Amino acid sequence: MIIDCHGHYTTAPQELTDYRDQQIADLAEDPLFQHTKGVISITDDQIRESLEGAQLKLQRERGTDLTIFSPRASRMAHHIGNESTSKYWTEHCNEMIYRITRLYPNNFAGVAQLPQTPGVPPTVCIAELDRCVNELGFIGCNLNPDPSGGYWTDPPLGDRYWYPLYEKIVELDVPVMIHVSAACNPCFHSTGSHYLGADTTAFMQAMTSDLFKDFPTMKFIIPHGGGAVPYHWGRFRGLADMMGRPPLQELLLDNVYFDTCVYHQPGIDLLLKVIPAKNILFGSEMIGAVRGIDPETGYYFDDTKRYIDECTQVSDEDKAAIFQGNIQEVFSRLVLSKE
Ligand SMILES: [Zn+2]
Repeated sequence: MIIDCHGHYTTAPQELTDYRDQQIADLAEDPLFQHTKGVISITDDQIRESLEGAQLKLQRERGTDLTIFSPRASRMAHHIGNESTSKYWTEHCNEMIYRITRLYPNNFAGVAQLPQTPGVPPTVCIAELDRCVNELGFIGCNLNPDPSGGYWTDPPLGDRYWYPLYEKIVELDVPVMIHVSAACNPCFHSTGSHYLGADTTAFMQAMTSDLFKDFPTMKFIIPHGGGAVPYHWGRFRGLADMMGRPPLQELLLDNVYFDTCVYHQPGIDLLLKVIPAKNILFGSEMIGAVRGIDPETGYYFDDTKRYIDECTQVSDEDKAAIFQGNIQEVFSRLVLSKE
């Protein structure tokens, strides 16, 4: 079985965008505008239509069975508005994912967006996380390490600021994908530099903190192949050594996982060579940041299963773990209900 641990609902109907645009219009009148939840009218047929020619079609074509699916990451945009903006936007986005998991229980499992706001302690996320896991059956969450959208105004992930949320995460036994959203800082391209920079930053923040000493069962997934981390593994090992930290294997590799959203063969080969197979989870982030066909290969850049299949240095057993076993271990709440 092939499980894709990293997918977002990037093809949602226009009504969801319209709702967000209305929020933004209200904020233009008054930045402190207190939103109400309101209603978004999207039919099941619209949802089916948004997926049939897109994610479901690609699952069939590429031979993946199940996608672990969350709201569109770039649209989380936690920097927009105030606490009420993020709360209701997040609830609606998560409810769209829930409906998808009900319509296609064999194809999608839900992962939650969190109602973060820069400068607002993440304790505000606890109720929504609990609802998503206990009521909507979600199996993980995405945590934005920089809700300011590229200004990094909140404390680093190792700071006690985040601990109440981590306590809930551990209690629920859900893994966390560390995933930023769109950058509003013009110095950063969202998916080109901000995403990869944040992946690298999150790893370094974990490395320089006692996060996993304090939360030994918490699991972080660092997406996009871990940003610069696998490529610069020697630098990180050396820095850990200089700082008197334990070796990275011991310090982080019981808790930190990397996905395979790396869009060329040499990149995947490097990832699989440097990082132990037990720490790698198959992911494609399909219909995401890079949607075109690679003219050098004739295949979609984000068809990452192909690169793992082609990688000659990894055993079939390890490949099976990357495609399924590791993901089942990390997402302990995932129930496979294949017909
Ligand atoms: Zn993503």
